[in-house]
Amino acid sequence: MSRSDAAAVEFAEESNRMRILVTGGAGFVGSHLCERLLGEGHDVICLDNFFTGSKNNITHLMDSHRFELVRHDIIEPILLEVDRIYNLACPASPIHYQYNPVKTTKTSVMGVINMLGMAKRVKARILQASTSEVYGDPHVHPQTEDYWGNVNTIGIRSCYDEGKRVAETLMMDYHRQNNVDIRIVRIFNTYGPRMAENDGRVVSNFILQALRNEDITVYGDGSQTRSFCYVSDLVEGLIRMMECDGFIGPVNIGNPVENTILEFAEKIITITGSKSKIIFQPLPQDDPKQRQPDISLAVEKLAWEPEVALDDGLRSTVAYFTERIRKG
Ligand code: NAD
Ligand code: UDP
Repeated sequence: MSRSDAAAVEFAEESNRMRILVTGGAGFVGSHLCERLLGEGHDVICLDNFFTGSKNNITHLMDSHRFELVRHDIIEPILLEVDRIYNLACPASPIHYQYNPVKTTKTSVMGVINMLGMAKRVKARILQASTSEVYGDPHVHPQTEDYWGNVNTIGIRSCYDEGKRVAETLMMDYHRQNNVDIRIVRIFNTYGPRMAENDGRVVSNFILQALRNEDITVYGDGSQTRSFCYVSDLVEGLIRMMECDGFIGPVNIGNPVENTILEFAEKIITITGSKSKIIFQPLPQDDPKQRQPDISLAVEKLAWEPEVALDDGLRSTVAYFTERIRKG
């Protein structure tokens, strides 16, 4: 390649290079997203208040001169010059978002207003991490984006579910009123390495219980269903949605393969070869009975569908937790 060709390639790379803010970047999903965006050559600002995130999730990125870490809470305003904002900041597991429910709602309302205000000011494109919880305990199965949901406004999950619903409303109103360039993704249950050990969600609970040969705690009779998506598939979907022109969503991103929680417990016992027994505990209030994404829209608009089979994703996740237990 001649010197001028090399310069042209370098220029092209430079011109595609963006400054990207990932709020909640030290969390489970955010850390994988930061890693992927850095790998693509972008400048990444990871912003986090470390409520459920951890520096351990991102220490391996600190050596890069294109990575910056900001300790900040999105319920306070901040000014940053960026091209893209992935707004992931919000605790995602029920025990974490119910720990300080008022703060959870503030994060999805004041936090989202702050991020939208920044997007408006610097003309950045902003993607909001919404959730399948906007469908509540759904009466439509599988869930399509045009279903308005069945959500309790006054229950213990409402701070999260209603917070995310208002976040979607704010996104749409800033778009209609102020022309902010938005994207909305409704994320279904996602799992993988770097889930927090104390997070209480079903994947980390069952794997840790199985690896320690402790009882596996199925809530209710285990007939409720969930559909689990591996984190690399989710990250691919988030990036495709962010860079898709002419489609703002909302779009479902999740794996349509549906399991009952009892089947899932049995699968974890098989994969880990554990001696654990399954025990049954009370079902938490407002626990959705079934959940499965209809991903037709993601397939049509983003040419996206999950690639990692549940057994393969679980084996990687089990390997991660095995190593974490070994390190103590
Ligand atoms: P997580 O708890 O691991 O990550 C959330 C991150 O946000 C953490 O690093 C936390 O410290 C940070 N954070 C929380 N409140 C903040 C605030 N006020 N200011 C700054 N930082 C704050 O959760 P996750 O599973 O990585 O979820 C990431 C996003 O995806 C969340 O918005 C969640 O609602 C959404 N989501 C996740 C799932 C899933 O299954 N993982 C499903 C649906 C939606
Ligand atoms: N669950 C369970 N045992 C656990 C943790 C969770 O049976 O130790 C159930 C929970 O009641 C729910 C499902 O697993 O029906 C998924 O729970 P999680 O908290 O992971 O996600 P969400 O309810 O938000 O989908």
